[in-house]
Amino acid sequence: MQNKLVLSLKKFANPKFSAAYVAKLAILTALSFILYVYIKFSMPFMFPSFFDMQISELPALLAGFSMGPVSGCLVIVFKCLLKFPMSTTGLVGELTDMLMGVALVLPASIIYCLKKDKKHAFIGLLSGTVTFIVIGLIVNRFISIPFYANLHGFDSVVGMLSALYKNITADNFYTYYLLLGVLPFNLLRCIIVSAFTFLLYKRMSVLLHWEGSSLRGSIYGTHKVKKEEQTYALAKRLANTLEGGEVILLDGDLGAGKTTFTKGLAKALGVSEEVTSPTFTILNVYESGRLKLNHLDMYRIESEDEIAELGVEDCFDDDAVTVIEWNKFRSIDGNIITVSIVQNGDAREITISRKGIADDEKDGLPEIEDGEPDGEITLEQEETE
Ligand code: ADP
Ligand code: MG
Repeated sequence: MQNKLVLSLKKFANPKFSAAYVAKLAILTALSFILYVYIKFSMPFMFPSFFDMQISELPALLAGFSMGPVSGCLVIVFKCLLKFPMSTTGLVGELTDMLMGVALVLPASIIYCLKKDKKHAFIGLLSGTVTFIVIGLIVNRFISIPFYANLHGFDSVVGMLSALYKNITADNFYTYYLLLGVLPFNLLRCIIVSAFTFLLYKRMSVLLHWEGSSLRGSIYGTHKVKKEEQTYALAKRLANTLEGGEVILLDGDLGAGKTTFTKGLAKALGVSEEVTSPTFTILNVYESGRLKLNHLDMYRIESEDEIAELGVEDCFDDDAVTVIEWNKFRSIDGNIITVSIVQNGDAREITISRKGIADDEKDGLPEIEDGEPDGEITLEQEETE
């Protein structure tokens, strides 16, 4: 697990600053900036009127989840830098927002990147909320309030809050302000931002993982290939879009090139072992690449029991890419990529298509229950001859 994080950080340390990466970061930064500056309201009946309720950390969290912790923090940093010229607080407001934004986004995206599933998304957002609140209290106690007190006088700062908190005095100011203002307000704000993130990050996954293919011809669609190297090259382009959690269904007759395509994928993912056809082993697992690769060949699978026996269900997880030749699950929910290969003389037509992610319950990946199939994944009825 830690390896994964190191890998993703290394990937960042030596980034391929692709046009798509820059474009995504720019779009998320712009969104974050708009949400920061223009989409906000105050709740003067409950909280100090200068507290802005806004969700500008949402795009940063989406960036952090899809492109790694550093990218998430960059969105926060750029969002605040962009607001510098409009600052009314001598940059203090923007700098403290930067600190607090990082306090939320960094732990959340580090934890999510350790293992990309719902549980880690939740724990990540919870941890981010805790650090956000703690840093929020520290920042207000030692930076923001002393700054405003210095500027306007402590008494006038206390005066600003006396309408809201009847008994507030200079002596009990921090107790009222921090415990009844800052803390519950930041908690509420984090809950709202986290809820949006939690609802959106999977739904937007396809968009967020866009790799700019349309700029140079999409990999989705039909490709004519002649040489085996062209199959490898196409597989490599697909591999570069993979983030973990995808299920790739390979269609095509015997000898069409399904295993060959998988070899190309494996190579591009950095798998060092030799990839062999899993016709007899049914499942081969390769863990030496950028992502774990499960390679299944269900040609010889005849019953649900066989799948259960093989422990296939253990291999589906959000960190793995699963390639299935001769798929026999009737339906699989989740992040499905279909690759069908039609042989036509010595040429081949390879069609790649991808379904959006729209699965709430299963977090995008198939599960096989012991015994009874639950309809989500069921073995195809054997055809009667
Ligand atoms: P499958 O897994 O679909 O049964 P394989 O990948 O095992 O098929 O076999 C495909 C065979 O076709 C391999 O021997 C491969 O060398 C050959 N071949 C020739 N040209 C191509 C190509 N353009 N793409 C894939 N395979 C090719
Ligand atoms: Mg094969």
